Amino acid sequence: MTFSVTILGSNSALPTTKRYPTAQVLNVSERFFLIDCGEGTQLQLRSNKIKFSRINNIFISHLHGDHVFGLIGLISTFGLLGRTNDLHIYAHSDLEKILQPQIDYFCNDLRFELVFHHLNPREPELIFEDKNLEVTSFPLKHRVPTCGFLFREKQKQPNIIKEAISEFNLGIADIVKIKKGEPFYDGSGNPVDPDKLIIPPPVPRSYAFCSDTGYNPAMIPVIKDVNLLYHESTFADEHIDLAKKTTHSTARQAATIAKEANAGKLILGHFSSRYDDLSILEKEAREVFQETYLVNDGDVWKIKST
Ligand SMILES: [Zn+2]
Repeated sequence: MTFSVTILGSNSALPTTKRYPTAQVLNVSERFFLIDCGEGTQLQLRSNKIKFSRINNIFISHLHGDHVFGLIGLISTFGLLGRTNDLHIYAHSDLEKILQPQIDYFCNDLRFELVFHHLNPREPELIFEDKNLEVTSFPLKHRVPTCGFLFREKQKQPNIIKEAISEFNLGIADIVKIKKGEPFYDGSGNPVDPDKLIIPPPVPRSYAFCSDTGYNPAMIPVIKDVNLLYHESTFADEHIDLAKKTTHSTARQAATIAKEANAGKLILGHFSSRYDDLSILEKEAREVFQETYLVNDGDVWKIKST
């Protein structure tokens, strides 16, 4: 099963010819979860060959333009493409108030429902759940109410080893119990080693998105042991005062969060346009957390099943 993140936009504030503003899409078994929607997101979806019809859920971290200016255009395009499936938008409650007049004016013939889910920017909250995936929002530290998102696969049950069914004469009730982890006894009343009965399920994979935020250790328990962490790194060390003033992070601060959270890998984005050479951000972050990488638009970061 696929579990990967495509970077659609990785710049802060301004769209440039090389980097669009923030947007990403998480692919979970060919279902696409859009995260933020900066200007140009729909062009980037096309460039990266992502099927619009597979997007049913959009998560908006906060209401700064560089994370949301692409949304009305994308909604309009969904309408022109004849969409009929509901579109769920998870965002601060103000987004509904801001968007509704534009939708009424520009998109008054939509044939699909827009379903707004209001985020709680004060504490972690489970906001989405299906049979494969859970999404939790959690507070970030920014100038306006902002949420990060943790996407985590659900724990699957183990598979029964086929040969064990005849060897131990397993009935349906036995299989249900074994899959739940209950002990099983053979005909002589001896416990059977689970390794002879089941193949363990894959370890659930996880992805956390943290942008925009100042240094915010409060999020560490929520994202603990995440496989892949995206954290904004707007600034280098030399601009740490500016990071503090604008409630953004330096690359080193992002790396400190990754280290403390025991993340598998850290990817950095939301770069300030002031840096011609971004390698300084990677260098400073790696001094704290070696498994750090800068993202580029079009990157696909895969999380393998183990
Ligand atoms: Zn912002």
